[in-house]
Amino acid sequence: MALPRPHLTEIPDSGLSLACGVQPDELELGPDDGRSHGELSLSVEIAKAGTGLSVTGVLTGTFLRQCVRCLTEYEDAVSLPFAVEYRPEDVPPRGRHKSPGAEARDLPEGEEEVYPFDGDRLELAGMLREQVILATPMQPLCDEDCLGLCPVCGENLNERQCGCPGEGRESPFVVLKAKAGRQRKG
Ligand SMILES: [Zn+2]
Ligand SMILES: [Zn+2]
Repeated sequence: MALPRPHLTEIPDSGLSLACGVQPDELELGPDDGRSHGELSLSVEIAKAGTGLSVTGVLTGTFLRQCVRCLTEYEDAVSLPFAVEYRPEDVPPRGRHKSPGAEARDLPEGEEEVYPFDGDRLELAGMLREQVILATPMQPLCDEDCLGLCPVCGENLNERQCGCPGEGRESPFVVLKAKAGRQRKG
């Protein structure tokens, strides 16, 4: 099932609620944006707000990420709530964000993000894609306490203690101590 693109005339004054599955392809996510594991699900409330629409909802799904410490792939179940506004393109949004390339993210915190209509239709894909990208961690960790890989033999220390001499892991401190020692002498 494709992501709904309701025509503006199809949205009653009382608003519209939608719930549907979303295929990752529909959001055109790049490999670094978060690889979705299977279908995402979307629930969205559309309400009229002046000449525009207020769109709130939540996108849930499972993403595959690679831990930066141990390089293991893990599944990250996420729930992304959003609250945005859609406006006709000829009405400039509040503030000075008229150019099409302007990042909606420049808006001060607390301000709703504004998206243009696609002609006479409500286009959710681009907005949802942004939500996913924003929620993608820069430094994904399989676990906050992930022990990472042994710098000596490369063993995943979450799975097994390899028994390598601890020197490798403590090296930054060893270097500091050595420097301090030298300074004291010199
Ligand atoms: Zn890890
Ligand atoms: Zn080791």
